[in-house]
Amino acid sequence: MKKTRITVWNENIHEQQDKEVIEIYPDGMHNVISNFLSQNPDFEVRTATLDQPEHGLTEDILGNTDVLTWWGHKAHEQVKDEVVERVKIRVLEGMGLIVLHSAHYSKIFRALLGTNCSLKWREIGEKERLWNIEPGHPITQGIGEYIEIPRNEMYGERFDIPTPDKLIFISWLEGGEVFRSGCCWERGHGRIFYFSPGHETYPIFYNEQIQKVINNAVSWAKPRVIIPDSCPNAQPIEKVVNIHDASAKI
Ligand code: ZN
Repeated sequence: MKKTRITVWNENIHEQQDKEVIEIYPDGMHNVISNFLSQNPDFEVRTATLDQPEHGLTEDILGNTDVLTWWGHKAHEQVKDEVVERVKIRVLEGMGLIVLHSAHYSKIFRALLGTNCSLKWREIGEKERLWNIEPGHPITQGIGEYIEIPRNEMYGERFDIPTPDKLIFISWLEGGEVFRSGCCWERGHGRIFYFSPGHETYPIFYNEQIQKVINNAVSWAKPRVIIPDSCPNAQPIEKVVNIHDASAKI
């Protein structure tokens, strides 16, 4: 079977600037995500970061990516518009996109969904319980009834997104809010999954259930087709009199 080619993208700034984050992700969270995905024999994984030429997302790399995962927070505005457009075109052609945590505010997520994607937040280290409300969905296989994260940043409603094609996790937050924490959409031929856990000061990407969800999401989001955009003029299949033809009798 052909392997699913994954590119794990990370802005990789907190991991170089914030002591707390360096302790949790000394090699950057992209390497932690890449390492656990690489354990799946069906996956072939590479990483890309903001500081690389074209943010590591050249035409060639995207053309050889089946599923792209995206983590960003501090530097959404530094991502070049031409790269965002390139990723968007590739998703519409059929590439899968997994959007993690604070990437809710990334240019690419907002461009594909067409809304502000803003939300309510608070960072005091409270408990979150993500309820699996679609136990039959491919992304929730092996997860059980819920995922409990002892300390997380609170993300709360209203989350300014278009209604998901499928909502698979709803979070309860200790402080009283709720949040749509696992959302699926299709745009063009591509599949998009937003998953809210992943605040940089907590070791969330080491959580086995979180890793399982991202693993499942990659398998779900891999392309079924890749169809470049075209808008062709088409000849009729049946015989039709062309009323613009001067010789046609009307
Ligand atoms: Zn955060």
